[in-house]
Amino acid sequence: MAIQLDFRTLSLTLMLFSLVFGLGMFAYSREHAKFSGIRTMGAGYLLIGGGCVLLGLRHFIYDFVSIVLANTAIIIGVVLIYRGLFRFRGISLRHERWLSTTLVLVLAALMYVYTFHIPDVNLRIQAFSIVFAAACLIGATGFLRHRESHNRMAGKMLIAMFLLVSAFFIFRFFRSFYEVPPEDFMNAGWLSALAIVAGEFLVILSSFCTIWMASDELQDELSEIARIDPLTGLYNRRAFDECCDIEFSRAQRSGAPFAIIMCDLDHFKRVNDRYGHHVGDEVLRRFANTLKEHIRKHDVVARFGGEEFVLLLPGKDTEQGLEVAEKLRAKTADTQITIGDDVCLTLSASFGVAHYDSSDREWSAVLHRADNALYAAKKQGRNRVVDLGTENQSVQAEQMLSTQP
Ligand code: GH3
Ligand code: MG
Ligand code: MG
Repeated sequence: MAIQLDFRTLSLTLMLFSLVFGLGMFAYSREHAKFSGIRTMGAGYLLIGGGCVLLGLRHFIYDFVSIVLANTAIIIGVVLIYRGLFRFRGISLRHERWLSTTLVLVLAALMYVYTFHIPDVNLRIQAFSIVFAAACLIGATGFLRHRESHNRMAGKMLIAMFLLVSAFFIFRFFRSFYEVPPEDFMNAGWLSALAIVAGEFLVILSSFCTIWMASDELQDELSEIARIDPLTGLYNRRAFDECCDIEFSRAQRSGAPFAIIMCDLDHFKRVNDRYGHHVGDEVLRRFANTLKEHIRKHDVVARFGGEEFVLLLPGKDTEQGLEVAEKLRAKTADTQITIGDDVCLTLSASFGVAHYDSSDREWSAVLHRADNALYAAKKQGRNRVVDLGTENQSVQAEQMLSTQP
């Protein structure tokens, strides 16, 4: 059974898709101004839609408009779609600008010549097909060259889309050499009808993938926000828990040590009481910076809550953990905090250190020991570092707790 694809109806659907998606992209970019390139894509869809309208008006308007302008508008539309996509993903492709401009000018010139000087539908089909294929190849190249910026599914789908459409138009180009030139492009056969389907495929998939990538980006942003403490910019407890999960699994697999340090500013309440909450906040930020500045890149520091902070030091045993804690303690105690003209104060902090032991069933056991050690440091007079050791430390800590008033 032969499949009949009605060219005019297909053109009409491509026109509708392009216009609706074009306007939709403009509306989306108004709501999400932070994404660049969406409006350029919208303009691309509108040009494709507009080009289809002009194509559909063949025999009713001048050939120059319904052939030369219409086809040029469609190619400019494709260029704007990949240019918008490149801008959206931060892709810069060398020579893209002049290559695209050349493609558009060459097509416009060929369409003019093959309409008015050597009128031939097949030649027009060949010119359009090869330029369309080249434009799609530029789109695919941009994404292939910058794989790091789109390692997700949507990026891969875009590459596949550009390559498929390009392959189709290359096929159409060669096939047209063996076809009898159609009398009228509107009745140019199933391959031309499929070309419209390829156009629809390009419009639908490119807009779908863009919205998909945008929602991925918004989701990443949200999950990052959910992991960050807004006051200090450090990780929050949730993010710290995730890091500990990973480190604990690694320690169990390989036996690699890790240490946890818990620390708490001494008599911090007095800062709030004396200077006000805003000064307290600034002191917390400065302390957070001190912690951040004195750890390695792969160490993790988080605000646990209030004026309590926690550090995860992969690869460090207790002795090394103690060294780090002592460095942080000394730095805190030696640093004068000046805020504006009126506030100049020095603070101290207490530190509790614990390290992973192979008998630990979960990482919270290490955290619990670090917490007990911190409690001991407070009890022993503050501004100090305490490690209760692995053995019997829970018992010692329990004893300490029970001697509290
Ligand atoms: P200690 O040496 O025993 O730790 O005494 P402390 O005063 O530091 O501890 P305490 O638990 O009595 O007081 C903690 C204070 O931290 C009370 C609370 O108002 C303050 N605090 C907690 N979170 C924030 C915050 O986000 N901003 C400010 N400015 N203060 C905070
Ligand atoms: Mg405190
Ligand atoms: Mg506290």
